[in-house]
Amino acid sequence: MTLIDVINLFDTDEKCREILVRLRWPNGPECPRCKMPVIELETDKQLFYCKQCDYQFTVTAGTIFNDSHLPLQKWFLATLLLCEAKKGMSAHQLKRTIWGLHKGSYKTAWYLCHRIRAAMKEADRPMLDCTVEMDETYVGGRKKGSGLRGGAGKEVVIGIRQRNGDLRFFHAEDAKSGTLEKYIEENISTDVDVIVTDTLHAYQSAVGDIPHKTVRHTDQEYVRYEDGFCVTTNTVESAFSLLKRGIIGSWHKISAKHLPAYLAEMEFRFNRRKSSSLFLDTLRHMITAPVLTFEKLTT
Ligand SMILES: [Zn+2]
Repeated sequence: MTLIDVINLFDTDEKCREILVRLRWPNGPECPRCKMPVIELETDKQLFYCKQCDYQFTVTAGTIFNDSHLPLQKWFLATLLLCEAKKGMSAHQLKRTIWGLHKGSYKTAWYLCHRIRAAMKEADRPMLDCTVEMDETYVGGRKKGSGLRGGAGKEVVIGIRQRNGDLRFFHAEDAKSGTLEKYIEENISTDVDVIVTDTLHAYQSAVGDIPHKTVRHTDQEYVRYEDGFCVTTNTVESAFSLLKRGIIGSWHKISAKHLPAYLAEMEFRFNRRKSSSLFLDTLRHMITAPVLTFEKLTT
């Protein structure tokens, strides 16, 4: 879906609501409270009514769109922009693109971005299999060039990626062996062929009995061939480099509180980078995601 498609296909509030109804209730509208089928009232506001619990509601009730005064067309445009921004987009940039330089408020754009981002999350993610690369990186913090792994004030991000497959990002407490082991257990299939990491000592005990190969980054080794098998963590590192360019170029500073949400956004988009239904898929997540209040985001 291109920007032109979104502008042409969803040029009225009614058309936006129609697609949201289909995405929220593929088997026909139902009551969010008692799950029974409902009737559509003959008003121009597209209201639904449940006889069982005498409840009147719209398609956006109880979702991430809840109580928003923004026109749905603006929501749709913002969603497309975030879907298409491989390295992420700042709320400032989004505000300028949708409202213009002197209109709209940064706060509105920021809240909008966060609600779309909150929906870019996977509930059930399959275990990673075959060849899996795992690495850790450090983001944020004020200390530059300390040269130390995990310099003070920096946040640890663990990346796990199935080669030619899906990516997972985690904001971790630390990169100690017990922590790494937990992420391996929760995300990597027990019959994985091999896990490739760098030589960080903590991986040795974290991987346990799983076949494990390491690449010696400390000796400037990034790729090595063993009987035709490529020992490298370059494919998870390419995802880290997108993340870092997002942080440097688009988001500038991310608080530890919001880091998991940015990681989920990066991961969601990365895993659908070849999908032609990214936009509709994101809308489906948004119309089925729970309310996210401004208070919850800021306290
Ligand atoms: Zn009901």
